[in-house]
Amino acid sequence: MFLTETHEAVREMTRQFAEDVIRPVAEELDRDERFPDEIYRQMGELGLFGIGVPEELGGPGFDTLSYSIVMEELSRGYASIADQCGLVELISTLLVRHGSKEQQKKWLVSAIKSEIKVAYCITEPEAGTDVSGLRTVADKTDDGWLLNGGKIWIHNAPVADVGFVLARTDKDAGHRGMSIFIVDLNAEGVERGPKEHKMGQRASQVGALNFDNVKLPEDALLGREGRGFHMMMSVLDKGRVGIASLAVGIGQAGLEAALDYSQQRKQFGQQIADFQGVQWMLADMAKDIEAARLLVQKATFAIDNGLEATKACSMAKCFAGDMAVARTADAVQIFGGSGYIRGFEVERLYRDAKITQIYEGTNQIQRMIIARELIKHGAR
Ligand SMILES: Cc1cc2nc3c(=O)[nH]c(=O)nc-3n(C[C@H](O)[C@H](O)[C@H](O)COP(=O)(O)OP(=O)(O)OC[C@H]3O[C@@H](n4cnc5c(N)ncnc54)[C@H](O)[C@@H]3O)c2cc1C
Repeated sequence: MFLTETHEAVREMTRQFAEDVIRPVAEELDRDERFPDEIYRQMGELGLFGIGVPEELGGPGFDTLSYSIVMEELSRGYASIADQCGLVELISTLLVRHGSKEQQKKWLVSAIKSEIKVAYCITEPEAGTDVSGLRTVADKTDDGWLLNGGKIWIHNAPVADVGFVLARTDKDAGHRGMSIFIVDLNAEGVERGPKEHKMGQRASQVGALNFDNVKLPEDALLGREGRGFHMMMSVLDKGRVGIASLAVGIGQAGLEAALDYSQQRKQFGQQIADFQGVQWMLADMAKDIEAARLLVQKATFAIDNGLEATKACSMAKCFAGDMAVARTADAVQIFGGSGYIRGFEVERLYRDAKITQIYEGTNQIQRMIIARELIKHGAR
């Protein structure tokens, strides 16, 4: 795919940042499950948040291909860091498309400049893949809304300043009875659960949020009442491209580590890269990473050119997530016993890859979407 000078420059700048700042501390962040505030601040200063936000609203106004490049390169450094870029992109896309002038003024620039941390809050104990199980409610009051309920497994819940919360505003209206609220997570009535201890992406802080009679002002409502589900779903295409790019970055880091190791490690008097069994694993890794990257680029092309993008985005997310799990397993294999030991990068990459098949819509759901699109529009 043709990359412009701007795309190349974005890749170079992000790669340098990942090499110099992220990769050297990735192992420590994983081991200590530490959220790196200092890196988060630097990303804001460098302009790595809110990639698609138009210049007149304070962003760089870059296209979705640029966003995918940033996500891949950050993730090649460490996926937990890329996740932060993905979160801000989702929230800022919501604000650009649906926020009032006041909401944009209040939240957009502060999120892009990393002055605040954001959370995207859909999942609940009874509402995972099936969002219709949503129980969190926002009741209208004289001067605003009263929020009650709870969310689980929310990225940044332990550290976020503001949450974009999907809640029911009409319990009889199904998907049309949900709305999004911008919630100050330091407000009275908001309680944060403890940080979850996860298999991978351990620097990402994930946890629960509980809302007990949280008073929200009128202008906490984002967009129109009852449109929350559709608004959340409308940004998911971009979210899926982001996670697909993140998965490509994990795979790429695994390939580089495995290629390097295979040329250093000697058995039977020669480097293991000389054995065909190892070469085939390296070749499979390289071809599947490239295929995933091309699917991502096709999806970004569809989004950036206003074409129907749903199937392409689901294909990219599903393929890239499955690829990252399978191909980081190959990287572990090439490292032999070392690949199974903490402190070797490929051991972490394998753990970091797994969640890409689960969040932003599981890969079963991506397959459902692809099949639905096929049945609706045919096989081309
Ligand atoms: C580390 C982490 C970070 C997360 N971050 C966030 C966040 O920031 N914000 C947020 O809102 N959520 C977040 N989530 C939640 C995540 O999006 C959900 O875990 C995911 O949507 C799946 O929901 P579930 O876990 O309830 O699984 P379930 O919906 O219970 O699914 C269980 C299994 O059943 C399968 N399944 C379900 N329905 C179908 C079907 N119709 N056909 C075929 N198979 C099906 C699923 O694919 C899965 O394999 C996060 C989760 C984790 C672990």
